[in-house]
Amino acid sequence: MNAVRCGILLAALLPIGCGGGVDSVWPERPGPKVVVSFAPVYCWAVNVAGEDAVVKNMMSTTGPHDFNPTDTDARLARKADLFFINGLNLDNDVASAVKKGSGNAKLKVIDLSTKLPIDQLMEGQCHHQHHGHDHPHEHGTDPHVWLSPDFAVLMTEAIRDELKAADPEHAANYDRRAAEYVGKLRALKAEGVAKLAGKKDRKLVSFHESLSYFARSFDLTVSGVVQKKPGQEPNTEELRDLVKMCREKQVRVLAVEPQYTANTSAKAILDELKRNGGVADPALVEIDPLETVTPQALTPAWYEERMRANLTALAEVLK
Ligand SMILES: [Zn+2]
Repeated sequence: MNAVRCGILLAALLPIGCGGGVDSVWPERPGPKVVVSFAPVYCWAVNVAGEDAVVKNMMSTTGPHDFNPTDTDARLARKADLFFINGLNLDNDVASAVKKGSGNAKLKVIDLSTKLPIDQLMEGQCHHQHHGHDHPHEHGTDPHVWLSPDFAVLMTEAIRDELKAADPEHAANYDRRAAEYVGKLRALKAEGVAKLAGKKDRKLVSFHESLSYFARSFDLTVSGVVQKKPGQEPNTEELRDLVKMCREKQVRVLAVEPQYTANTSAKAILDELKRNGGVADPALVEIDPLETVTPQALTPAWYEERMRANLTALAEVLK
């Protein structure tokens, strides 16, 4: 299945490798040229890179579950030195296709998930969908590791080590900036733990299967999932099961995502719980899984700010 999908991506990208022309993507300056797959990785990398390396982000408003690379992405990778990805089958195929399409054989793709302790990874569903090739029932490792601040620290340190290896002259700078940023990530974790301290009800239904690592970091329980596959609304029977589960397990908090504007299924569950009871004071809470971003909104502080907003929203709704 993967091979078939890659074949399609590569065919679409092949023409780029044949062209010549000037590369205006990267500024004329020394230092490593770094591409990252999506927004959380951008924030970690740009904080470590500082003025010693240039970092460019690939995916913006289309997140890693739905992304198909284009010529623009291949062009971005063409002169790049490093390509940091999340891994765990989230963006590996995209990275392979982009590297191949770019014609840049020297591009080093770094799968950050390989730097995480394997015994702390959790099982999840592989639910990518590209050009209608859909395989929602393959089980694999849950890729949403970026929502754990603890893992963000480890992946930031891995980025630091790669940048030091690529640019040893500025090793001390990378060390200093990485230490500063890791301090911020640890503060973010401590702040979240403090915000949620004393909450007796720590259960929620997540919108898609994205919050397992986040929940483990902050001692929360994900009791169910609204969209078994990102972007696909549950059917009537699944909705009924979710309502039943909320009543049985006394789950009153339903997470919705800003990326899915409709969120009609979560609202339907809420309405049913409000109308026919069984759960006291049910509520929706907006949790951003940090998979998409507008280019204008993506700043070095974006990861911390969005994580903090999620924790604040949860602290307001949990009791
Ligand atoms: Zn996801």
